[in-house]
Amino acid sequence: MLSRAGLKVLVLEGSDGVGGRVRTDEVDGFLLDRGFQVFLDAYPEAGRILDLQALDLRPFRPGALVMRGGRRHRLMDVFRTPRHFLGTALQPIGSVRDKLLVAKLRYRARHSTVEEIAARDDRSTEDFLRAFGFSEGMIDGFFRPFYGGIFLERELTTSSRMFEFTFKMFAEGSATLPAEGMSAIPRQLAARLPEGAIRLGTPVRAVDRNSIVTEDGERLRADFVVVATDGSTATSLVPGLPRKEMAWRSVTALYFSAPKSPLGEAIIALNGDTGGVVNNVCVLSDVTPAYAPAGRALVSVSVLGDPDPDGLEERVRAELADWFGGEVARWEWLRTDRIPRALPVSNPSGKTDGYQVSEGIYVCGDHCSSASIEGALVSGTRVANAILEGG
Ligand SMILES: Cc1cc2nc3c(=O)[nH]c(=O)nc-3n(C[C@H](O)[C@H](O)[C@H](O)COP(=O)(O)OP(=O)(O)OC[C@H]3O[C@@H](n4cnc5c(N)ncnc54)[C@H](O)[C@@H]3O)c2cc1C
Repeated sequence: MLSRAGLKVLVLEGSDGVGGRVRTDEVDGFLLDRGFQVFLDAYPEAGRILDLQALDLRPFRPGALVMRGGRRHRLMDVFRTPRHFLGTALQPIGSVRDKLLVAKLRYRARHSTVEEIAARDDRSTEDFLRAFGFSEGMIDGFFRPFYGGIFLERELTTSSRMFEFTFKMFAEGSATLPAEGMSAIPRQLAARLPEGAIRLGTPVRAVDRNSIVTEDGERLRADFVVVATDGSTATSLVPGLPRKEMAWRSVTALYFSAPKSPLGEAIIALNGDTGGVVNNVCVLSDVTPAYAPAGRALVSVSVLGDPDPDGLEERVRAELADWFGGEVARWEWLRTDRIPRALPVSNPSGKTDGYQVSEGIYVCGDHCSSASIEGALVSGTRVANAILEGG
């Protein structure tokens, strides 16, 4: 936005590529996102900023398979797949009343604006779901694993505003993957900047309102300085920001190469039991074939938190053998991504106004807005507008 408005922009990126937490690596013909993540195609700000057509988004099926006691239960969004109406209503995950409450929540979400949701009473998602009338069976069997996979915590302490917003996004659109991997999103943004506007491998050590110093000791001057790092780095870089340690949600992602897809469809499979380390599984090559070379399937497994890596692969395989049977033994392990700083904790009413200005330095990122790609884009837009409207 700033570059398009005619300002000369220089982006100093500490790592070896653009994207931050949204990166994809090509490994032996597989596309491995750094942790399982999806793009919700109803995100309003992302829809304004990105060329969604060019991302060639591939949708997941609307719903989930809940694995409980070794059996699969299919819970579909019956408004989009009406033929699953009866099957979903009769699944033993939640009661028929719970399914009607989902319809009520869906109606409320679709008929509320994002601004209305942001102004609602904020409490934990768990309290919200109970107050809405959902049974413990529905909360444990569906909401904990499904939203646990999004919030990266199954206790559902995350803000109910965040829940309602995300629920609205699922009601209005699909979870998707860009055909060529999640990193297509930041690559598209980076491609809009003029040649030379991004310097990779340039970590910044210090900032003030009109200058920055890189780790190499180079000092650069600017009319405006924007710190668009993660929240922990921002609090250590920017004078005047509260120095309290930021709390993070962590996740560990395991990738396996399988001779064939254990699901055979673009859907997320959830752990609907109370025990176990696995939260969710999906086969990314069922969503978009570019994620795996011909003849192989790419299985993504998410484990919440940062568990002891010793023996983790074996524990995951043993659990998934209950889900998928003996074929799991033939899967080849590709990689495990441990991401201790995946999402800033979003407690009820814990967020700020979308960006901050401290001692003349602009600060943006998901920690200023909501813990998502949409939140990061909303925050960046707010900062760009503030600068364009006169600093
Ligand atoms: C595993 C995982 C799953 C997720 N799932 C989803 C999902 O399904 N849907 C969704 O919408 N969101 C998801 N998210 C969240 C989403 O990825 C983030 O909220 C968003 O990318 C944050 O963007 P950001 O620009 O605020 O920060 P970041 O992506 O953290 O970018 C900050 C940038 O600053 C750079 N930097 C840091 N310090 C310095 C320094 N000193 N000097 C120079 N550069 C520096 C970093 O290298 C990085 O490039 C997920 C995140 C993870 C990790």
